[in-house]
Amino acid sequence: MFEDRPDRDAEVVLVGRSNVGKSTLMREVTGHKVPTGQKPGVTRKPNHYDWAPESFVLTDLPGFGFMSGVPEDVRERIKTDVVRYVEEHADQILVGVLVVDGKAAVDIIDRHSGGEEIPHDVEMFHFLEEVGIPPVVAVNKMDKVDDRDERLDALCDRLGLYPPWQQWRETIAPISAKRGNVEALNEAARHHLHEAGRDDLFKFF
Ligand code: GDP
Repeated sequence: MFEDRPDRDAEVVLVGRSNVGKSTLMREVTGHKVPTGQKPGVTRKPNHYDWAPESFVLTDLPGFGFMSGVPEDVRERIKTDVVRYVEEHADQILVGVLVVDGKAAVDIIDRHSGGEEIPHDVEMFHFLEEVGIPPVVAVNKMDKVDDRDERLDALCDRLGLYPPWQQWRETIAPISAKRGNVEALNEAARHHLHEAGRDDLFKFF
């Protein structure tokens, strides 16, 4: 599957459904040019941003979930590959950034709840925790959200975090990647890097 990962001992990954703004966020964090607005599903390989000589890599993993024009089996394979990648590198991954669309996430979760399947975002959140990676939910596109506190509290509730959201600032980070407003994510990331004894990596966030 994904074979071109640089050999680094510290990594931060971005995971999320397609179209939530991962490439936009990646560009904001790295200051590099990352192609955005690609046809969903085109990015099926991880994008690695490497800061040699630092032993650190930031990885944007392929978007999963519904993508129009992409068959179900391909979508399943992408998700399986993402899960395997995270499992395989769990020891190096210091923070797992789960990017969600702040306006749509709760509705999407609720639409997919109740059946046999666990909604992708909820599943991914718990999966990161299970493999010992601190999850940070980057709640993106907050510039489009009017009822900010209500939305963030509802999201906490769906993730099994007791509201109000303000008590989860190391886990819930409302941002607007497009507007360059990502300070909440930087703070949450620094919290976990500090916990991991890696204050030297603060310069990336
Ligand atoms: P990806 O598929 O997750 O990599 O998503 P992209 O980065 O390509 O973004 C998908 C769409 O969402 C694009 O039209 C972006 O301009 C838009 N987008 C990304 N971040 C934001 C944001 O913070 N606010 C708003 N309003 N739109 C955003």
